[in-house]
Amino acid sequence: MSDWSFMSQIASGLKRSNRGDPRWPTLWPSEATVVDSDGNVQGRCRRATFFRYAAARQAWEPYLSEQQKDLVDLWQSLKKPHSDYTLFVFKQGDLYEDFLIEMSKNVGVFVATQTPVYIKSANVSGKIDIEAINPETGKLSIVEAKSVHGFGGTKTIGKAATGKYAGKAGEPKESHLMQLGTYHYWVAQADESYEESRLVYGDRGTGQHAEFLVWTEPKESGTEIWYRQTLPYQGQATCVKFTIEDMLDQFQLTHKRTSDFEIPDRDFDLQYSYEKMVAAYNSGDLPKVAKVQMEKIFARQSENESRVAEGKKPLADLTLPKRGDWQCSYCDGQKFCYEYDGTPKPLPEWVSLGNPSKAPKPKAELMPMEDVDLSEVF
Ligand code: SF4
Repeated sequence: MSDWSFMSQIASGLKRSNRGDPRWPTLWPSEATVVDSDGNVQGRCRRATFFRYAAARQAWEPYLSEQQKDLVDLWQSLKKPHSDYTLFVFKQGDLYEDFLIEMSKNVGVFVATQTPVYIKSANVSGKIDIEAINPETGKLSIVEAKSVHGFGGTKTIGKAATGKYAGKAGEPKESHLMQLGTYHYWVAQADESYEESRLVYGDRGTGQHAEFLVWTEPKESGTEIWYRQTLPYQGQATCVKFTIEDMLDQFQLTHKRTSDFEIPDRDFDLQYSYEKMVAAYNSGDLPKVAKVQMEKIFARQSENESRVAEGKKPLADLTLPKRGDWQCSYCDGQKFCYEYDGTPKPLPEWVSLGNPSKAPKPKAELMPMEDVDLSEVF
């Protein structure tokens, strides 16, 4: 009889290092940022990526001065721990992906999962969620799975056209198009065994789901990213307002900024100003509760105008709904960037003064990218 214990074996597996333990620091496709052709920043906040990446580089091969390290440590110490709710949301995202992997195996279209991708010129590494085979064409397709819910999820998914109802196009998140666009560009664009990639969304609350074809097209001005919704709404092919090269440039800029320790400005707002709230109201981007509150604010303003005209004292202004950019809502850096009431917090004096003599330069450059051993990356 053997002394081997199944449960002890499982327990030893639980004690192993987690994925994500120290490894050569890279940037991630989910951290892509661009300034689009309208001048708007899309994707991940460059300040958030800066601190995440600087901390990873410092842990791998210390290169920051004491003062710079203190600032990175301050960022780390102010990290807002994720609530149980948020952790469950993250896990549900993983479970949705696991479900799609399992089902794609059941229906015979599964090829691979967690395929590593590394773009050396920008030091970007990521993993493809699913590679599937299209049984109709025999070609491979990269699938990126995202789970959504609530007002934002409904907007992302859209509605099918039925009877007299014209339906509504879904609106994929720019950051997801950037992530999948990067994978498609690097893995599939020049490989004839691949066809369009697929960005798929599932609503955790309703079971509604959506699918968008995503592909890239090299042009003289850069590599364009295109998408077309195929489910539940049949959409038109649409080109996004930035190119793959715009994204890669930003990754390279972030790498350089962490080397030079140039802290980027905030790209997003934890709490929108009145002007931004009005713009969001006018473009229909507010959920119901915020929309109703804005209407109360407008009504109070016109009431006050009448009161002032009648020589009466105006009533107190109503407070703005709590609303800002999703990037700040989920960001570790909230306490670093903002005061408790959502007003922007200044950087430590030597940084905000822009006095480079007070901000010591890095002691050493990191290992040159050419020398990176890929076995360390994955
Ligand atoms: S809190 Fe907002 S502005 Fe600050 S780093 Fe995070 S996303 Fe950027």
